[in-house]
Amino acid sequence: MRIETFRARLRDLGAQPLHVDRVLRDWVRVMDHDRGRRRPDDFLPKPVRTALPQLDAELDALARVLSTHPADDGSARLLVGLADGQTVETVLLPRDGVCVSSQVGCAVGCQFCMTGQSGLIRQVTSGEIVAQVVLARRLRPVKKVVFMGMGEPAHNLDNVLEAIDLLGIEGNIAHKNLVFSTVGDPRVFERLPAGRVKPALALSLHTTKPDLRARLLPRAPRFTARELVEEGERYARLTGYPIQYQWTLLDGVNDGHDELDALVDLLRGKYAVLNMIPYNTNPGLPFQRPGWDKARAIAAMLFERGVLTKLRDSAGQDVDGGCGQLRARAVGERTV
Ligand code: SF4
Repeated sequence: MRIETFRARLRDLGAQPLHVDRVLRDWVRVMDHDRGRRRPDDFLPKPVRTALPQLDAELDALARVLSTHPADDGSARLLVGLADGQTVETVLLPRDGVCVSSQVGCAVGCQFCMTGQSGLIRQVTSGEIVAQVVLARRLRPVKKVVFMGMGEPAHNLDNVLEAIDLLGIEGNIAHKNLVFSTVGDPRVFERLPAGRVKPALALSLHTTKPDLRARLLPRAPRFTARELVEEGERYARLTGYPIQYQWTLLDGVNDGHDELDALVDLLRGKYAVLNMIPYNTNPGLPFQRPGWDKARAIAAMLFERGVLTKLRDSAGQDVDGGCGQLRARAVGERTV
């Protein structure tokens, strides 16, 4: 269900805009209806009150936790079932964050990503995206939502932007704590600046070399690294928060001096943070994780040369962390 469809149903029942907002706010903030509404009997029109139990049940049915996989770093990976039997991964992150999926599968086909191997299966609706946050909030506080799970948010823009709007307005999440992550798509640079909620932006670089980028991200739009950074810089200046550039560190692939020199040339002086994430080795995919000492030395060198670099580990390393592995294993188990 899309959030817009839900809004229209409430309107058809006679709800005014403030009633619609109130019902959605109670859902996304995980308010108990009896406690959350001052006096439901006084507040909502009778047809809405009568329909509420049914509407609540429909919202509850959008997504449910099939299994939980806690990790030592405080994160937990959730395998989430959708109403039609499809599954996505949602990750509870340390420090009150949650990482949500925006598609089942993904069409970009990144060579190092498990989700990319399946192709696109279907879009995740705005209701299902917000439902992942609601599930997370039933387990722990959520103050940050990153769109870095399964899928390319730019390929499901209407649903993702609808979810971002609700989370940023009624969901009480600071706009800079909503992080839209993309390989780069012209539509993103047109539509994000136009929204009333402007999320932070994370751009996947992974390499400065066009030919390597074409191989690693075969169906990403053909932006050069410099063009991406130019677009990113414009958006950072507009919003007032820095762009996050993502670099999955692949041993022997994108960790050479030529790449790192080009990266310094590209990002020094920019309003940006470089997130360097050592690859999470994946059986069946032909890439290796570099040693932690090597990754740390690379990050330190970039930092010294003027690039604000953060070395991060992908949350949930010890529980099949890494986009799509949990789902792939669950699908595999179901099909054996
Ligand atoms: Fe899609 Fe992201 Fe995986 Fe690339 S890394 S295939 S964009 S889900």
